[in-house]
Amino acid sequence: MPSSRVPHLTAKLQGFGTTIFAEMSALATATASVNLGQGFPDSDGPREVLDVAIAGINGGLNQYPPGLGMQVLREAIAAHQHRFYGLDYDPASEVLVTAGATEALAGALLALLETGDEVVVFEPMFDSYAPCISLAGAVTKPVTLRPPHFGFDPDELRAAITPKTRLILFNSPHNPTGRVFSREEVQLVAQLALEHDLLVVTDEVYEHLLFDGAEHVAMAALPGMRDRTLVISSGGKTFSTTGWKIGWLCGPAALVTAARTAKQFLTYVSGAPFQPAIAHGLGLPDSFYAQLAADLQAKRDRLLPGLIEAGFEVFHSSATYFVTVDIRPLQPDGDGMAFCRSLPHRCGVVAIPTEVLYLNKHEGRHLVRFAFCKQLDVLDEAVRRLKTLG
Ligand code: PMP
Ligand code: GLN
Repeated sequence: MPSSRVPHLTAKLQGFGTTIFAEMSALATATASVNLGQGFPDSDGPREVLDVAIAGINGGLNQYPPGLGMQVLREAIAAHQHRFYGLDYDPASEVLVTAGATEALAGALLALLETGDEVVVFEPMFDSYAPCISLAGAVTKPVTLRPPHFGFDPDELRAAITPKTRLILFNSPHNPTGRVFSREEVQLVAQLALEHDLLVVTDEVYEHLLFDGAEHVAMAALPGMRDRTLVISSGGKTFSTTGWKIGWLCGPAALVTAARTAKQFLTYVSGAPFQPAIAHGLGLPDSFYAQLAADLQAKRDRLLPGLIEAGFEVFHSSATYFVTVDIRPLQPDGDGMAFCRSLPHRCGVVAIPTEVLYLNKHEGRHLVRFAFCKQLDVLDEAVRRLKTLG
């Protein structure tokens, strides 16, 4: 992120620069590098999901869908929440379809935050959180997750909560660390939300990308939490359709109505032909979900040993598309930004400097994220290239 002032840009967005994903994907294209930066798979999701979208376009599903999202999708989202977490939401008033999880996050934060409110969030954090909180006039209060396990210090979490705290923004499984928060950790966050009467917004976009039998604990399913939690997820990761931008949020009607009020003035609606397709996907049998996780686990198991052989210190990943490494064995000055900017030119591989996902930049300066949601031969080629660094 450049520190220089951008002309014309509102003070609320000064310092946020161009997203690292756009910068690094452009660099990957310009240098014909293997792109293990931005998290998107390089193969299509289930054929039948794609076919429903194609049939929708051919069948004339090309105009604005309803403001809340198509009923078939809202019903499928509600059924999914019941099936996986035992949570019941009324598709007519407690489910909202959004333009990806990104818009769900923006809608929720813009709707729920007053100027000066504080939002407690673990860092590193997904790149849209801090700018959206800032656009809402609120303040991000980060609690740092530290390697090797990327757990949090309960006292640091408690200390981050002040009388100004309005909500906790909680992402599990966690991007970029691949951490799945344990039941005890989720319970502690819930307990603090209850004690301090806070809202919780959860980002669960990686809910099905879990390895080694890891369990995703749904915050809203914990006692007392349903009524104060907005659950956000998306079809992008689960169905390998990140370009479709079909997301959603679920919660008690009052919170969903608030989020909808902001969301309707952002995009109003989007993705008509994709909505029934994602609805179809959400109804796929358990075997689909198991295979999705198993395939990705195999990819993780291919990349991680390669990164170790290439000389990085590698932190374990239990979920998501991502693994985090410490670059210092290969670059003793620990400048992850410089490392990632030079890597495509040095060996034709793109990765993400995790520093940009921290407010306390020094905490992540030496950390770099690689994505493993790629075909095995692509991962092998990346490792071959990375090994030339040593
Ligand atoms: N949250 C997290 C943690 C993410 O990694 C992403 C990136 N895909 C998003 C939200 C945004 O999801 P979408 O593409 O559905 O907008
Ligand atoms: N979620 C993806 C990542 O973290 C990409 C998100 C984006 O490009 N906005 O890499």
